[in-house]
Amino acid sequence: NFLYPLKINRNDELGQLSESFNNMQKQLQHNDEARKSFINNVSHDFQSPLMNIQGYSELLLSQQVSDKELKEYLQVIDHESKRLSNLTKQLLVLTSLDQKAYPMKISEVQLDEQIKQTIRSYQWRLQEKEIEVSYKLLPVRMLVDVELISNVWDNLISNAIKYNAHGGNIWIVLSKSDDCIKIMVKDTGIGMSKKDVAQIFDRFYRVDSARKSGGTGLGLSIVKQIIDLHGGEIKVDSEAGVGTTFTIILPNKERKLEG
Ligand code: ADP
Repeated sequence: NFLYPLKINRNDELGQLSESFNNMQKQLQHNDEARKSFINNVSHDFQSPLMNIQGYSELLLSQQVSDKELKEYLQVIDHESKRLSNLTKQLLVLTSLDQKAYPMKISEVQLDEQIKQTIRSYQWRLQEKEIEVSYKLLPVRMLVDVELISNVWDNLISNAIKYNAHGGNIWIVLSKSDDCIKIMVKDTGIGMSKKDVAQIFDRFYRVDSARKSGGTGLGLSIVKQIIDLHGGEIKVDSEAGVGTTFTIILPNKERKLEG
């Protein structure tokens, strides 16, 4: 620390060297702070569900409870363990994506089918909230990292359900032009303010009203990283109380189907 910042006001090589040294120090300090706050967030996110699980199991073990209470407590334990499992899964994806050169496993995938499959996997939650999904998916066969890209649909669709109103709607459109593929996921949910929209791709960021949803605040930062890796971009348009639209643009690396 005593070396930093180096104060050498010269325009020669020594001056340049001291400047790049200072920049390096600044970057290291920034990384160190980011690492500390990351560990802090992760520990906190593990701690609160664990405390709930511990508290409710102790209650169940130490006293007689009615059937209604039993069900209620088990539901909390179930919800909190799912939250922990989800957090662990997302952390694993995140740490693997953080490798300097992520080894992408590119293969051909039928994008529309993959999206339909994700919708099907959420059928029970859609029914539970009586949400109707409409979609218009052009057949698109593309070269992508299949596992990573399926994470994207999973995150966007699960958010569109989680942050939607009971009896709400979701529209999903997959279209293409000569040079790009466009995917739009639109919902009639709680929406967000402009201030929140600017931060939702940051790790651990959660809009205050979403805190009770038991999310991790990691999903969208993972989505953004995956889309970047594929050379695409993601945009969000949202209005509080009205709904949210996520739009993804991917470069069209479609493999023409033979025949
Ligand atoms: P989380 O695990 O909290 O859902 P995400 O990274 O997926 O984390 O999303 C970050 C935050 O962005 C969420 O906490 C939520 O407040 C907001 N958000 C994401 N998707 C939507 C959506 N479809 N509608 C409204 N808010 C959303």
